[in-house]
Amino acid sequence: MKKEWRCSNCSTLLGVIENGNLILRYKGVEYVVTKGQTMAVCRKCHRTNTIVVPVTTGSLA
Ligand SMILES: [Zn+2]
Repeated sequence: MKKEWRCSNCSTLLGVIENGNLILRYKGVEYVVTKGQTMAVCRKCHRTNTIVVPVTTGSLA
């Protein structure tokens, strides 16, 4: 299951939700947020976007 997280103002791609985890990629490093609230400031319009990653019951694989 894959879902894109986009800026609410300009639709810039901020991250991807995969198997219930939020995946953020920046300069070749991959960040995985497994639960909790995450904020991202859009690189284009500087709008602050907030997402809540639900607690996952499954594994990363
Ligand atoms: Zn934006």
